[in-house]
Amino acid sequence: MKHIYIGANWKSNKTVEESLAWYEEFAALSASQPDIVKDRSVILCVPYTNLYPLKLAMEKTPAPVELGAQDVSPYPEGAYTGQISARMIHGLAAWVIIGHSERRKYFRETDEDLFRKVGQVKDAGMKVMYCISDPAMPVPPDTDIIAYEPVWAIGTGKTDSPENAAAAIAEIKKASGVQKALYGGSVTPDNVSGFVHAEPIDGVLIGGASLDPKKFVSLIQHASA
Ligand code: PEP
Repeated sequence: MKHIYIGANWKSNKTVEESLAWYEEFAALSASQPDIVKDRSVILCVPYTNLYPLKLAMEKTPAPVELGAQDVSPYPEGAYTGQISARMIHGLAAWVIIGHSERRKYFRETDEDLFRKVGQVKDAGMKVMYCISDPAMPVPPDTDIIAYEPVWAIGTGKTDSPENAAAAIAEIKKASGVQKALYGGSVTPDNVSGFVHAEPIDGVLIGGASLDPKKFVSLIQHASA
């Protein structure tokens, strides 16, 4: 059975209290059905403000999930007002998402910026989930896992077909040399199975459907290949 990765991207959602309530419900649901995370890795990418409270909650009530951040400074520690350096995240998160299409669109992040961010994350000893929306986009060689997310499918309710996504991901793996790649874009409990069954797809990155713990657990249950 192939190992499946399920990333959750909360984006700019959830106060500290809301994140803790989500976690409490997720931990209870996953404890009552331990098989749902068999052969799966769940990576919860949350706002910076929620990392430390969730780390403490996970120490108290462990659940089968790893924490991730959604961005990082392209610079090391120092005089960069407002930035969160990789060293500040290390110890709180195992993963960092880099290059999400919303970062590229709203914050004008360039490939050069993104490659610098990947360098910071790797130097700090964390793993990179690198997002691209087109197979032709460059991927930093140090990337641990790629998330292929067509822009038109993100948050729209329109998904790519598993066949198209699989073809794009096969091409991306070949061109980049990165061995693991996810599909993202309007994945739900109802359509996740088609993606994880497609041979070259190693899992999914989930936005909207990760915000409700019941829906997210249902999605994990349906994500069996
Ligand atoms: C995302 O933002 O990475 C994403 C896949 O969002 P959604 O699942 O809401 O389309």
